[in-house]
Amino acid sequence: MPRPVCADCKIEFRCLKNDIVAEQLADFGSYRLWSADLWICPDCGHKIIVGFGKAPLAERHEDRYDDTLARIAEHKLTKMQFKER
Ligand SMILES: [Zn+2]
Repeated sequence: MPRPVCADCKIEFRCLKNDIVAEQLADFGSYRLWSADLWICPDCGHKIIVGFGKAPLAERHEDRYDDTLARIAEHKLTKMQFKER
């Protein structure tokens, strides 16, 4: 199966970093944390977040959510943010 393709450059993205944390934002702020991969177009440098896990690592309503966010910062894991439209 082809990898994701940059429609502008007509070339496959390549994986820049596995196992990043993708922080899903809602109107009230941080909502969910996902494991995902960060890919980049080798020509234009556009980045996309793909390969999300089947379920979030953590959700806001859980007691451990703030601890999880703190651990991510403490371990300096790559965290990217996104929001639903
Ligand atoms: Zn491109």
